[in-house]
Amino acid sequence: MISKAVLSRLKEIVGDKNVLTGQEDRIVYSYDGTPLLGNLPDATVFADSVEQVAEIVRLANEERFAIVPRGSGTGLSGGSIPVESSIVLVLNRWNRILEIDEDNLTVRVQPGVITAHIHQAVEKRGLFYPPDPGSMTICTIGGNIAENAGGLRGLKYGVTKDYVMGLQAVLPTGEVARFGEKNVKDVAGYNLKEMLVGSEGTLGIFTEALLKLIPKPQTYKTMLATFRRMEDAAQTVSDIIAAHIIPATLEFLDRTTINCVEDFAHIGLPRDIDALLLIEVDGHPAQVEDEAEAIFPICKKSNALEIKIARDEAEALELKTARRSAFAALARVRPTTILEDATVPRSKIAPMVRKIQEVAEKHQLTIGTFGHAGDGNLHPTALINERNKDELERAEKAFEEIFEFALQNGGTITGEHGVGLAKKRFLEQWIDKGARLMMQRLKDALDPNHVLNPGKVFDLSPKCEGHLPGTQKEALEATPA
Ligand SMILES: Cc1cc2nc3c(=O)[nH]c(=O)nc-3n(C[C@H](O)[C@H](O)[C@H](O)COP(=O)(O)OP(=O)(O)OC[C@H]3O[C@@H](n4cnc5c(N)ncnc54)[C@H](O)[C@@H]3O)c2cc1C
Repeated sequence: MISKAVLSRLKEIVGDKNVLTGQEDRIVYSYDGTPLLGNLPDATVFADSVEQVAEIVRLANEERFAIVPRGSGTGLSGGSIPVESSIVLVLNRWNRILEIDEDNLTVRVQPGVITAHIHQAVEKRGLFYPPDPGSMTICTIGGNIAENAGGLRGLKYGVTKDYVMGLQAVLPTGEVARFGEKNVKDVAGYNLKEMLVGSEGTLGIFTEALLKLIPKPQTYKTMLATFRRMEDAAQTVSDIIAAHIIPATLEFLDRTTINCVEDFAHIGLPRDIDALLLIEVDGHPAQVEDEAEAIFPICKKSNALEIKIARDEAEALELKTARRSAFAALARVRPTTILEDATVPRSKIAPMVRKIQEVAEKHQLTIGTFGHAGDGNLHPTALINERNKDELERAEKAFEEIFEFALQNGGTITGEHGVGLAKKRFLEQWIDKGARLMMQRLKDALDPNHVLNPGKVFDLSPKCEGHLPGTQKEALEATPA
């Protein structure tokens, strides 16, 4: 437990009202969007300047307590869940857009800005920040950078890392560092910015970000295609891309998810189909027209039952509701929603979805699957009651089998939600030994006292004092020179 003296020092740094230690406050910050995981922090601290953050990190090194950075707590892998003897450092009040540079096409933001607020601010000026996680109306840009968040537009436009041009971060030992700036090309030194993006709050606390913008697409067209068979939907995805069309959005819902969405949103989706694709093309009006026209026969060729094309913005929004409300629609069915992130090469989508259905049947579970079909990034979502121990164990077994299948098919355990606490054991099981060793060495070198979100992503081995623990020595020896 953090001492009273340390709490007093924290209050001196950020002010009394920005350090919460009451039981209710600790409970509120004991969990994030990840089910089944939680832990009480010793205190919750709100900071809104780089000086405050740096001073808190230096204090943590002196007094040896852990810091868990937190944006909005929407993470789905337990990244902002408190660890032993930790404070949660909440950054979502530090939320100003500092500059939109229309000459250089950049936006400079504080770490706690809500992602959708960036979209709104730049779109008013005819500019575009593409990453659009499903949680964009609540999550922060700091959390997006820490998780390298993806979104519905990832297929055409890429993910968060593709838009981070510059970062300011407080290092785990309390120094402040800047990485990158407005130069489109910059190869001076190691590419440390890329190392920090996706580091899940373990290698630095982001205190400012410079993001790349692009011109806003002039127009878009939204379509919804329904399929009796999963394989037909998967074939459509492959055929669209083989026709050299890269839609901005190419999203998928399975039968369970379609039925839950229909129960929730009443948008007239057919209930007896296996799959639905939400497709959106954007860009120059002529190109959009051409691509939409080309997609129509591709869907038909793969036996699409119906293809709806939105005639205006209101209809487009309605079609998008099917996908945007998938998580909420599934989450209301049972008390516990375990949303996973198994990802496979695009060509393996149909076998992956079939496997998920087989596994669900075998373990007598309801698992709805939806996700970014164009990226092969699927979200199998188990609907259970965590108080039913038997059901919980079956769900855990089911996900083990799902991940195993994904990995055997060239996939990965997470496409966008990160490892955090939730996927640690899967990472340990599958990661290349040399890569695992390098992660440990990086962490030890940059965070010698293990104060920054320790125990996230991978278990820290006992502090190495000039030597490597046995298993790591073996890993090093096994690594080719
Ligand atoms: C309904 C729903 C839909 C979602 N859809 C998507 C999706 O489409 N794509 C996707 O990728 N994710 C999605 N997510 C997951 C989640 O929203 C993202 O991971 C998001 O990036 C987390 O942002 P946050 O501000 O909530 O961060 P938090 O959950 O607070 O933190 C996430 C991680 O970032 C670290 N962190 C936070 N701020 C900082 C900072 N300033 N400096 C350093 N580290 C920091 C934390 O320590 C933690 O490890 C979804 C979640 C929900 C609940």
